[in-house]
This record gives sequence, C-alpha cells and structure tokens, in this order.
Amino acid sequence: MEIDLRPLEETVTAPAPDDAGLVFIGRIRTPWTGRGQCPRQGRAGEGPLCRVEIDPLWAPALAGLGDFARLELLYWLDRARRDLVVQNPGHSGATRGTFSIRSPNRPNPIGTAEVTLEGQEGCTLLVRGLDCLDGTPLLDVKPARRQLAEIDETGTAGGPRHCVKG
Ligand code: SAM
Repeated sequence: MEIDLRPLEETVTAPAPDDAGLVFIGRIRTPWTGRGQCPRQGRAGEGPLCRVEIDPLWAPALAGLGDFARLELLYWLDRARRDLVVQNPGHSGATRGTFSIRSPNRPNPIGTAEVTLEGQEGCTLLVRGLDCLDGTPLLDVKPARRQLAEIDETGTAGGPRHCVKG
C-alpha cells in the first residue's frame, strides 16, 4: 500500500530495503484498521486494552516480565512509506525533515511506545498505550528505562505485578 504524498513533500530514491535481518517476534492486535482511527501518539496507561501476541517460540524470554508495570515496545510500521525526506505533517504547509518528527514514514519505520502491562495470558501481553494498526509486527519488548533505574536503586520495579497467567 503506497501512501499518497501531500503538497510540498519530497521523496528520494531509497535503497532497496533489506530490513537488517530483523525477526518479527509477534503481532500487535489493536482496534484500529485505518491510520485515521489510530492515535497519533499512544500514552502509557491510556486508550483501549491491546493484545501483544508473542510467538510461543519466545515463551522462555517472557520470564520475569510480570515484574514490570511499564514496558517499552518496538514495532515495525509495516504500512509506512520509506522514501520521504521532507514531510508536511497535518497538511499544515510547515514542512519538516523526517528525522525531526515521529512520523511513521521513515527509512526504517520502527515505532516505539511505553505501555502499561495490564495482564498476561500465556504468550499474550495485555497493554495500554499503543498507537499502531491492527496486525503491526512486533520487534522487541523490554522493561521501560525508568523501571530499570528503579531496580538499580531499590532492587525492585514496583512489582511484582498481578498478572493473569494463561
Ligand atoms: N509511538 C510511535 C513512535 O513514536 O515511534 C509511533 C508514532 S506514529 C506517529 C503513529 C501513527 O503511525 C499512527 O497514528 C498511524 O497513523 C501510523 N501507523 C500506525 N501503525 C502503522 C503501521 N503498521 N504502518 C504504518 N503506519 C502506521
């Protein structure tokens, strides 16, 4: 799906994507099927409960995650353009370079969000705070940075959390 260009926007002939050999570790399930429905920027703890479905292959890698109230997710914005260098956010006419905004359209369309971990059903994490389309591939899950700082200082992460284990 090619996203239409807005007035004043500029593209380059981008190198053929190689995707750096990334492995998608799961899929994110959200209520949003069109970009217009999606929040521009998720906020941890806000918005609908979303499901982060992790391939059971990675089940052992989830051990200990329930200790954290907040996680950082990295995801692949798979329906983005990868050739935009100058963008026209909101059709405002005030153009910006791609690296000065958090648009999904970028050479390597990686999205990040800090979310609250609301529960866990087996290999599915229930989270709040996302802003991606249904089916967005998942790249990585890690404890939110400030939670790690708390662990360093106190030996805890405000947890353990009470998760529903499926
Ligand atoms: N929170 C992330 C970040 O800052 O890196 C993403 C922010 S980006 C502005 C969020 C927007 O990307 C959504 O409002 C939607 O328009 C678009 N989007 C969401 N999922 C996408 C996907 N899978 N492919 C392309 N665009 C997507």
